[in-house]
Amino acid sequence: MSVPPVSAPGGARRRREHHHEADVVVVGAGVFGCAIAFALANQGRSVLLLERWMTEPNRIVGELLQPGGIAALKQLGLGHCVEGIDAIPCKGYNVIFDHIPSLVPYPTVDDGGEVIYSWSGSGKNGKRPEGRSFHHGKFITRLRESCLAHENITVVETEVIKTMRGEYTDHVLGVETRTKDKETGKRKPDYFFGQLTIIADGYDSNFRKDAIGDKKATVKSKFYALELIDTILPLKNYGHVIIGKNTFPTLLYQIGTHETRALFDVPIGIPEASPAAGGVRGYIKNVAIPALPPSVQPAAFKALEDGKIPRSMPNSWLPPTKQVPKGVILLGDAFNMRHPLTGGGMTVAFSDALLLSRLLDPSRVPSFEDAKAIRAAVNVFYWRRKNVTSIINVLAQALYTLFAANDRQLHALQNGCFEYFQRGMTDGPCGLLAGIIQRPAVLAYHFFSVAFLSLWLNALVICAGPLGFLKAPLALIDAVLILWKASCVFLPLVWREGFQ
Ligand SMILES: Cc1cc2nc3c(=O)[nH]c(=O)nc-3n(C[C@H](O)[C@H](O)[C@H](O)COP(=O)(O)OP(=O)(O)OC[C@H]3O[C@@H](n4cnc5c(N)ncnc54)[C@H](O)[C@@H]3O)c2cc1C
Repeated sequence: MSVPPVSAPGGARRRREHHHEADVVVVGAGVFGCAIAFALANQGRSVLLLERWMTEPNRIVGELLQPGGIAALKQLGLGHCVEGIDAIPCKGYNVIFDHIPSLVPYPTVDDGGEVIYSWSGSGKNGKRPEGRSFHHGKFITRLRESCLAHENITVVETEVIKTMRGEYTDHVLGVETRTKDKETGKRKPDYFFGQLTIIADGYDSNFRKDAIGDKKATVKSKFYALELIDTILPLKNYGHVIIGKNTFPTLLYQIGTHETRALFDVPIGIPEASPAAGGVRGYIKNVAIPALPPSVQPAAFKALEDGKIPRSMPNSWLPPTKQVPKGVILLGDAFNMRHPLTGGGMTVAFSDALLLSRLLDPSRVPSFEDAKAIRAAVNVFYWRRKNVTSIINVLAQALYTLFAANDRQLHALQNGCFEYFQRGMTDGPCGLLAGIIQRPAVLAYHFFSVAFLSLWLNALVICAGPLGFLKAPLALIDAVLILWKASCVFLPLVWREGFQ
């Protein structure tokens, strides 16, 4: 059979459908895969998007999209995907530490979208961006529908098994897959070819070795999930972070008119969740739920009633690794992950898709056959993405370490952090978390401001009471230890995420 030229009317579509051949093969129609497929298709590229399960996903991930992610989604031309899915507007966070709430709303911004009080304080009136929370499956279905409707994209339900390389080169030429025969139900081998293959197969990627070698994610805890029905959150339209004196962080956010997601962080191997203590269910029932606001507890206990262990997902940290693409690029969670405490994963995915598509624009890279141009674009992408992603990643990891404090210095830093919020220093931290402040110096400034406030508060406690000044040397030693701990938490993360 002769292959129609790409320029022929419908030629590219026929090449995708009949010859399984396109400019780019994207593996995984999840958050990143859909976004990059759509962005490249909008630039006129012919795209094959391969997904193993096209049914609506039922997952406990990717349910809150930060304002920075909403902005990137709109620029990708996919802003409509948060409409018509019963999404709930989110105005920021209500952080409840030991039953005391601190409101951390998304910051006020000027007409150009710049945060006005990024270094200090918080705006009282003015425009504030919003996030959206929703059922992950409904959102993914909308993203997939947009790809299915795009004339330059062909979506195929097939499971990718391996990448294919040329006989005399290690350049990836496409992928081998298994496609279910609709009539017999049997899985048959299939092959898809692209000048470029983009792999975005998620947190448990089978293809890391192909692109970044033996890098493994670090997992210190898991999130266990409940879906609460018709519960009453202390504040409507705010995500809630709850930390008790003896509990690890719990997240609460409404994902539909009637549904609220609860995610309980359970560090691996903690005695509170040991079999003797009743396992994870025991920890959630006896320790974590009683620390929730009283209005939420009945729905949480009810959601536990089915007797099952709640669904869980590992909370992974995988810093990015430089890639020298030979026909394949690994992206999304497969490439870079952070603790989901701050809900930053999708914001990273959409801003990465936006940046990469701009760097691969046909005006810069006319053909994906030009391996040198792709290598140059991916190199620029690696360093430029850090303005957004290093902030989100470092903040997520550092905040988690503070919120799940397990020693004296970390507890001091945790106290300092909540006092910082109580004093109204919220616009900077929340703007960083939202993905709308893209200046790493602002993150460093707020982190060390919290550290200095922590050692000051700690010194006040140590030196309280008559003749307390005699304990000043003790306070000084503690101050050094707290500052040292803050540096140990922050600086290695900054080095790994920002400079490597
Ligand atoms: C508990 C938890 C909660 C989270 N909450 C949030 C949140 O509220 N907000 C936020 O922004 N981020 C959140 N995240 C992170 C976010 O979910 C991820 O960053 C995001 O989903 C990554 O997108 P991705 O496209 O890389 O992977 P995914 O969205 O997982 O997509 C991967 C796709 O690849 C497909 N696939 C896999 N293997 C193959 C194969 N062999 N062949 C074909 N297809 C394949 C999968 O079926 C899937 O559709 C959370 C993460 C966790 C763990």
